[in-house]
Amino acid sequence: MLSDNIRREPGGSLYFADHSISALAKRYGTPLYLMDENRIRENCRMYLRSFAENFGDNALPLYASKAASFKQIYRIMAQEGMGVDAVSPGEIHTAVAAGFPPERIFYHGDGKTEADIRFALDRGVGTFVVDNETELLRLEHEAARRGIRQKILLRVTPGIDPHSYEAVNTGTVDVKFGRPIETGQALAFCRLALNCGSLELRGLHCHVGSQVFDEDVFERTIDIMVGFMALLKRDLGYETKELNVGGGYGVRYLESDRDIDIPARIRIVAERLRLRCAEAGLPLPFFLMEPGRSIVADAGMTVYTVVSVKKIPGYKQYVTVDGGMGDNPRYCLYHAAYTVLHAGRTGEETMFDLVGRCCESGDILQPGIPLPGDTAPGELVAVCTTGAYNYAMASNYNRFGRPPVIMLTPEGSYCAVRRETISDVSALDF
Ligand SMILES: *Cc1c(COP(=O)(O)O)cnc(C)c1O
Repeated sequence: MLSDNIRREPGGSLYFADHSISALAKRYGTPLYLMDENRIRENCRMYLRSFAENFGDNALPLYASKAASFKQIYRIMAQEGMGVDAVSPGEIHTAVAAGFPPERIFYHGDGKTEADIRFALDRGVGTFVVDNETELLRLEHEAARRGIRQKILLRVTPGIDPHSYEAVNTGTVDVKFGRPIETGQALAFCRLALNCGSLELRGLHCHVGSQVFDEDVFERTIDIMVGFMALLKRDLGYETKELNVGGGYGVRYLESDRDIDIPARIRIVAERLRLRCAEAGLPLPFFLMEPGRSIVADAGMTVYTVVSVKKIPGYKQYVTVDGGMGDNPRYCLYHAAYTVLHAGRTGEETMFDLVGRCCESGDILQPGIPLPGDTAPGELVAVCTTGAYNYAMASNYNRFGRPPVIMLTPEGSYCAVRRETISDVSALDF
């Protein structure tokens, strides 16, 4: 099986986190997002343990909560001792309302409005990751007005293409986020920040990409970032206290995807950071990473009921389910790959396109997947590894309500987000 929290009984029934899929579907209905709570906790502890082993107290992993944001996830993060990233007032509000300590929230985003900035300051958000000069000056103004000194990191772009093994160091100089090191704009950005009396520049942030498998992406990032830290020391006399290298470790969506040994990778990153800082004569900064996908993706599964089957002789076959792009837009957005399993049985397989019930030919959950050839309406199918960027990206397109999020534990199951009803869907209309 793709992940060790998925198994099939000899009779063919599928289990996730030791729970029968058919029993869960009967109890909660479909479509249904399932989350394996222990897996989320284990993934957090894997990061916490390897951070402690490699950096002692001088590091903190942050959960990038855009991957899956609802109150219970922030409670779990608080209990596990993680920090979190948030990118909107909605995420900040959800975290704080769930009791997450605001001083451990890092606030991201390239389009923070004045209202957003005031909202985050009102909530006591610990660190702003400032994207650009406009935001910097707005925040300085607002912090000065309040008589506080706000902690900030500055987002810079190291110019690394995380998806090519050959270092193409200009690959992402042109992204919308942050200020590029290569053009000198990052240096000017830091100079400006150091002149802001109501802001405390703690250090630097960068994020090179997502679903990263390449071996040395973070080492190359460290090389460039420590090089820039040395430049800051030389040109501005500024010593970087915190270095945040973002998120991005990839997860397995298909059997053919590689498995990343994250603790081994972190050990290598830590060695590289120590080496480069020693060479540059810089003290080791407080180290941060922001995993999102690798914390929650393999903790998730989505369960659907087959509504209809269409076979076009000589062409293709479709299985239509009671969900679709509204609960998982990732294939539509960027052809994301998923493993799909029949939840009730095995059988001689043929190829189907798994499609949703939205009024779009493009409403495809996954094309070309093997399922028992006689798959029939009323049976259940499961899409694996949907814990990240599924519920978080869900919409009400065609006015379908979003599925509930059901947490699974060894003791039982409970609802973390309830199913949206038809009246929820029209609740805002006058
Ligand atoms: C999306 C994002 C992350 C998380 O990335 P994953 O690939 O989910 O680990 C972390 N930091 C920033 C700034 C991001 O935009």
